[in-house]
Amino acid sequence: MARMINCDGSWVEVDLRVVRDNVAAIRAALGPTQLMAVIKSDAYGHGLTPLAAALAGCGVRHFAVAYVAEAEAVRAVAPNAEMIVVLGATWPADVPRLLRSRITPAVVSQAHGEALAAAAVAAGGELPVHLKLDTGMGRLGFICPDELPTAAALTQLPGLSVQGVCTHFAMVEPERKPTAARNQVEKFKQAVPMLEAAVGRRLYRHMSSSRAALLLPECDHDAVRIGIALYGYSASEAGRRFQTRPILSWKSRVMQVKRVPAGFPVGYYSSYRTSAPTDLAVISCGYTDGYQRHLGNRGHVLIGGQRRPVVGRVSMNWVTADLGANSGVQPGDEVVLMGIQGDQAIWADELAKHCSTIPYEILTGISRQIERRYIGG
Ligand SMILES: *Cc1c(COP(=O)(O)O)cnc(C)c1O
Repeated sequence: MARMINCDGSWVEVDLRVVRDNVAAIRAALGPTQLMAVIKSDAYGHGLTPLAAALAGCGVRHFAVAYVAEAEAVRAVAPNAEMIVVLGATWPADVPRLLRSRITPAVVSQAHGEALAAAAVAAGGELPVHLKLDTGMGRLGFICPDELPTAAALTQLPGLSVQGVCTHFAMVEPERKPTAARNQVEKFKQAVPMLEAAVGRRLYRHMSSSRAALLLPECDHDAVRIGIALYGYSASEAGRRFQTRPILSWKSRVMQVKRVPAGFPVGYYSSYRTSAPTDLAVISCGYTDGYQRHLGNRGHVLIGGQRRPVVGRVSMNWVTADLGANSGVQPGDEVVLMGIQGDQAIWADELAKHCSTIPYEILTGISRQIERRYIGG
């Protein structure tokens, strides 16, 4: 694989001490339910291997990812993990790798299950699998209840050892009116005993992701698949079942400070003009790094412990902020694009609002080219 060049512009800091705090907070709330850490997409941009190692280090033994190669990377640093589930694509050709690294694929259809079973028989092994049910998400899995008989039939196939059953919420509405979520809960409740009867034993069950874990504790089952809350988002509200804090900061430096008069045009197409004499800071970071263009003339950065508006359009590699007059900011000063400086904070949910998106996309959108530094390990 071609190595990416580290361009030494901005960098990401991941605070492993906060990872441990978040795990402790979630586990204390869950009690006997397992925390299955969802670390797909490079652990939501935080770095797959370091996060898997840190989580294993604080006793997490259940993991979920989207791809086989991710699962193998987890196994390499978490050799004693009890369960590494691939929620997404697995192919018959992957079966020897799944067996070798003790990885559990989610089986999503009759054809998928039969193909994996045949490959497992050919490899001389028995593959532990979880059956994935579509109770309303309309994405991967056996449509409930129509396709349950075909799911049940898979329990009889040589080559497969059906050990678990799972589903995924399409939505978890506010407490007042959780109708669609209830509907999914009911479908899952009816499906599980039928599959257990077919296989002749109890199945490992998991249903909830972060939001359901916060709002629907009765859906815990054996494990909850926690992604975004582990990284400190969607779980900051006081009085909820658990609270977590963001662990990823994104920083850069001021490259140039320039003193400009009123009416000075900034950036492509001069979408901003200064209203008074002011200082502008040019910062090393741009949309190629995942700093979204939507943040131009909307977002803020922190410099010198203060919020500074991002002015003009975001360029490929540069962002400009208006410092106001006599800011005292110097080239080389640290810029916080996401994180805390002084008593100010900017987090991915704030950036997401400006971009009409969700913190998940902001976090996973930070370029892999940006160096990740791990602190508190
Ligand atoms: C990504 C994912 C999760 C984690 O969701 P969060 O909202 O980040 O907690 C859980 N289950 C499935 C199937 C997923 O794809």
